[in-house]
Amino acid sequence: MDKIVSLARRRGFVFPSSEIYGGISGCWDYGPLGIELRRNIKQAWWQSMVRERDDIVGIESSILMHPQVWVTSGHIERMVDPLVECKNCHLRYKADDIQGTRCPSCGGELTEARMFNVMFKTSVGPVEDSASVVYLRPETAQGMFVNFDNVVQSTRRKLPLGIAQQGKSFRNEITTGNFIFRSREFEQMEMEFFVKPGTDEKWFEYWVQERHDWFVKLGIKREHLGLNEHPKEKLAHYAKRCIDVTYLFPHGWAELEGIANRTDYDLKQHSRGSGKTLDFYDDETKEHYTPYVIEPAVGVDRSFLAFMCDAYAEEPDKDETRVVLHFHPALAPIKAAILPLSKKENLVAFARDVYAGIRPHFMVQYDDTQSIGRRYRRQDEVGTPYCVTVDFKSLEDKRVTVRERDSMKQIRIPVAELRKTLEAKLAGEDLYVLPPGGEIWNPEREKKG
Ligand code: ATP
Repeated sequence: MDKIVSLARRRGFVFPSSEIYGGISGCWDYGPLGIELRRNIKQAWWQSMVRERDDIVGIESSILMHPQVWVTSGHIERMVDPLVECKNCHLRYKADDIQGTRCPSCGGELTEARMFNVMFKTSVGPVEDSASVVYLRPETAQGMFVNFDNVVQSTRRKLPLGIAQQGKSFRNEITTGNFIFRSREFEQMEMEFFVKPGTDEKWFEYWVQERHDWFVKLGIKREHLGLNEHPKEKLAHYAKRCIDVTYLFPHGWAELEGIANRTDYDLKQHSRGSGKTLDFYDDETKEHYTPYVIEPAVGVDRSFLAFMCDAYAEEPDKDETRVVLHFHPALAPIKAAILPLSKKENLVAFARDVYAGIRPHFMVQYDDTQSIGRRYRRQDEVGTPYCVTVDFKSLEDKRVTVRERDSMKQIRIPVAELRKTLEAKLAGEDLYVLPPGGEIWNPEREKKG
């Protein structure tokens, strides 16, 4: 983990929040590369959950909701963690995390557990009194439940119907840690899939598989992923079944995503709480029923950490070691780097032209500092799939060399073919499928391996 944290900070993926004031625990800021990776993760999720499906739609609900939502949902009563404090060093722990009866840090005696609600409270309007209390949402899911009828009526959809949302959630966690794994402000990607009762078991199995496979498709190694079913006695009050997709993080196996069968609990509760019927009317079978809900819920930040850990490698390269992030091209923050071999004016001008031609189409970076070997290393370290080198010969033959991050193989192609070539390679085409006028760079060396 130390290596990931240090790389993340050094290269501008993740910084401690408000660092110049000493930081604030459980909060993180994402830097120029981090924000690109986050957006790519969110985009990949939105693409597979909303854009490529005709049974899921998206929404964005507000973070502050009517306070009654949290009473009805059970969060006021149940979103509590048992808190214990060491009488000697005053460190606080979630009682569930403690084995034995003594403080893990100093061995001191612990207080009795008291229940602590993890929702952040704030108030609306200028007067702070009990009537103005609102909460920062601890999950995005309630936004989908309270909008169920709005979405069904406005889209005229049939079941099964999913409603998806991405957005910030807040939990005043007793203990944060393991970098961005558990924080107090984080982002979730959740989808509530409303189905006819009786079909819920089938859809539950379907979503467990689907979500597991999404991580595999985006490059996470199968052997680093697991499925962990919650035993009946540990299920949340609303759940009939729950399976976590787990990941082998540097601190051990832990939940990456949770898939729950929430039954008809939420819609029934909000129906009671609001007095509005939240049924579905099936006009083919003329039935009224309250749908069951299957919920895959995952954190952006936790996925970010898993994708970074899984992509990280240290590989021998000649006499040295190179650090590489083997990101899936869809997630890589920078898709290609344009690197002129020297800072000579005519070469820089040519390379800048190449850069300008590619920039509207991909996230590309231009870099003309230090030696070419160093620049390759810098791009490998942040997971850039392709480096495009512009050399003196490029001025004459209008070709550039494209180097692949993972194999370090190279091809030489006409500048005019660069955009199309990068598009094809980023989509998964083999590097040695050459565009018109392209050739394998330095074939003698390639033959020798
Ligand atoms: P945990 O048991 O780790 O506290 P949870 O079961 O309470 O998590 P859910 O309520 O199921 O979590 O939330 C769904 C997802 O949101 C989690 O799988 C995780 O990816 C993410 N998540 C939840 N809490 C946090 C947090 N404090 N920091 C970062 N991500 C979180």
